Amino acid sequence: MPGKNLSRDEAQQRASILTVDAYRVRLDVTSAPDPAAATFRSTTTIAFRCAEPGASTFVDLLAPAVRAVTLNGRALDPAAAYDGARVHVDGLAAENVLTVEADCAYSRTGEGLHRFTDPADGETYLYTHYEPADARRVFATFEQPDLKAPFTFTVTAPAAWDVWSNAPHETVTAEDATRTWEFAPTRPISTYLTAVVAGPYHVARDHYSRTLDDGTVLDIPLSAMCRRSLAPYFDADEILGVTKLGLDFFHERFAYPYPFGKYDQAFVPEYNIGAMENPGCVTFREEFVFRSKVTDAAYEGRANVVLHEMAHMWFGDLVTMRWWDDLWLKESFADFMGSYGLVGAGTRFQSAWVTFANQRKAWAYRQDQFPTTHPITADIRDLEDAKLNFDGITYAKGASVLKQLVAYAGADAFFEGARRYFQRHAFGNTELADLLDILEETSGRDLKSWAAAWLQTAGVNTLTPQLTADAEGRITELAVLQDGEVLRPHRIAVGLYDRDADGALVRTARFELDVTGARTAVAEAVGLTRPAFVLLNDDDLTYCKIRFDEESLETLRTGLGDIKDDLARALAWSAVWNLTRDALMPARDYVALVLRFAGQEANIGVLQSLHTQAKGAVDLYADPAWRGEGGRLLADGALHELRAAAPGGDHQLAWARFLAQTANGSEHLGLVRGLLAGTARIDGLEVDQELRWALWLALAAAGQATEEELAGELAADNTAGGRRQHTQCLAARPTPEAKAAAWSAVIDSDELPNALVEANIAGFAVPAHRDLTTLYAAPYFKLLERVWAERTIEIAMRIVGGFFPQAQVDEATLAEADGWLAGHPDAAPALRRLVLERRDDLARALRAQACDRA
Ligand SMILES: [Zn+2]
Repeated sequence: MPGKNLSRDEAQQRASILTVDAYRVRLDVTSAPDPAAATFRSTTTIAFRCAEPGASTFVDLLAPAVRAVTLNGRALDPAAAYDGARVHVDGLAAENVLTVEADCAYSRTGEGLHRFTDPADGETYLYTHYEPADARRVFATFEQPDLKAPFTFTVTAPAAWDVWSNAPHETVTAEDATRTWEFAPTRPISTYLTAVVAGPYHVARDHYSRTLDDGTVLDIPLSAMCRRSLAPYFDADEILGVTKLGLDFFHERFAYPYPFGKYDQAFVPEYNIGAMENPGCVTFREEFVFRSKVTDAAYEGRANVVLHEMAHMWFGDLVTMRWWDDLWLKESFADFMGSYGLVGAGTRFQSAWVTFANQRKAWAYRQDQFPTTHPITADIRDLEDAKLNFDGITYAKGASVLKQLVAYAGADAFFEGARRYFQRHAFGNTELADLLDILEETSGRDLKSWAAAWLQTAGVNTLTPQLTADAEGRITELAVLQDGEVLRPHRIAVGLYDRDADGALVRTARFELDVTGARTAVAEAVGLTRPAFVLLNDDDLTYCKIRFDEESLETLRTGLGDIKDDLARALAWSAVWNLTRDALMPARDYVALVLRFAGQEANIGVLQSLHTQAKGAVDLYADPAWRGEGGRLLADGALHELRAAAPGGDHQLAWARFLAQTANGSEHLGLVRGLLAGTARIDGLEVDQELRWALWLALAAAGQATEEELAGELAADNTAGGRRQHTQCLAARPTPEAKAAAWSAVIDSDELPNALVEANIAGFAVPAHRDLTTLYAAPYFKLLERVWAERTIEIAMRIVGGFFPQAQVDEATLAEADGWLAGHPDAAPALRRLVLERRDDLARALRAQACDRA
């Protein structure tokens, strides 16, 4: 498709001459239940002004057919005006009305207007997802965040359906087999934030009200939706409960009344991301409706997302970045507010900062060490750059740096800054400087150098303690050494830990200080008794990797699990994982730590990330000669802990799932089969549907599940989730035919929906099947550019990332990746970035294996 990309320069040019006054969008989706109908009718009328009459411009539109284009009453020839991605219009007047009538396509990739038919009952569901630039798949639009306008949607849909959009509906008119929904005009919002949700959704309703400072009462109708067949599992009360706590909390902190009227939260099928903050009409992935037992970490994760999206109503929707360079102005803030809100709003998830330190930051560290890392305020040349920038830097590092800013400038200055920011820029667009100016006012500090160090440079610092003691064991020197390409100011705490009477490692002293430059002395520590364990960045105030002195590392080897405080222990786990990734700790030593201490890990979220990391350590970072033994040790450990765990608890479930992921010998696989057949039991463990699929996946990957057995399970669970799991199980079988079928299903056709693309890739890429999948490395590199050109960017990203021969950790595969990069300097930068990152993962794995071998 020509010109599908849009550059920052083009967007700036367009914004410099245009002001958009209103959009009116009419959609007719009555054809949606008919699978043979590929398109729906879309009619857009845009009223806009042009500062340079006579100039030309274009609107963005990705549609199979354009039927009519009218500018200021003048009909244009669609064949001449439309090039497949843009409708070109020239001879603009000072005030213009443009109408574009098109046939737009129902999406199966989650981009644009996604259509899903429920296998459980045959019902059809629609929802939109646009960010960063897919509104143009549904209507004609100036697709850039700084051309805000009020939108008025009209949607004609099957009579039995309900329809939602950003604003409440004003009228519903019934015709024979259809109903037409007229929505109120929205406040001025960006195109990527508009939304339509339509279908026979199950709805739970409630409302929220509060009295504002001026005495008026703000009443916000609330609703939560999911597919009908998920209704029996839908715990809307819990979701709406978190919603109300969040609305209280953000009103108190932000002091700006929620500006979008009502608040709907739709849980939608085959959603590509966690959730999207469409004003008044948030969409979530429906996997947040739990069909089977999940651990409390999953409930915490969901509540975090609810608050993250709600924070966006202010950071992002009310005040929006001018262009995608400043995506962090909404995502870093929302990511920070997710954890901050869980604690501050009084939800039951009071350990949110432990999760943040352990899991969210791991994402940031990983991303920040790729050669493709970038400053938090990024240089986003075009839409492909923008699409890749929803990454660990923009979200997790940005949020970490805001946490550091709160420690550095104070929470009062931070929130007073937020309040002034909303007042000053409501319904407008901003850049970094707009925020900094305000924070300097409220904090009284010069934040330019702080911002230069933290927001405008890339990379993570490493902090290492330097500790000496005299013959009596008294500290003679404690200093913090800082490494990294850019040294930054860090406000940190340093904790000293010793064993208490019960043998637990507890904090005996804490010093808070500003680390600047390469070496900073901790003067107050001199003269104290040398502790068993020194923890830099205690309380996780700053964003850095931490190392240990030799004695502290020895304490961890024998007593990591004895650290009493959850956050301190999570920081220690995080640090030893970083040591392993950095080839400074052999993978088998990390695995030994997990096997020794995970059984006593109280925090369920931390435990589950230990499982993922330990499995990754064996699969990718361990010497291949030891891999088999490492795998057996993990499975033995999982079985031991599963039997020891409290019946019916989260830990038991986590260990059962870990057993399913690691089972390899006949004892483990025999138990897996027994649990499925009901001939084996673990007291308190309910083998429900999702656990059944996890167990089937273990058998399938081991070559011990027949096609008939898997079909039987699907027959018993003929649902959207069941189909995904079944597809993954088929692809996970260790046969050349299964791998070929999965590969072909994804590569040779674009018929598969996003969810089944993902399931095929996940099943194909079982690390233990590297001898089977190695054949696909050469074809992978050959087809990269074709995939990038022919598939939508969402699907292309999955294929490029998921089919990279990640499990082939050897020099030959690294050379193949390097060869592709050297031979394709002019490939799309976003494609090169994805390959560079996978290549870097491979090089890291090779270094880790060398460390493990030595
Ligand atoms: Zn977000």
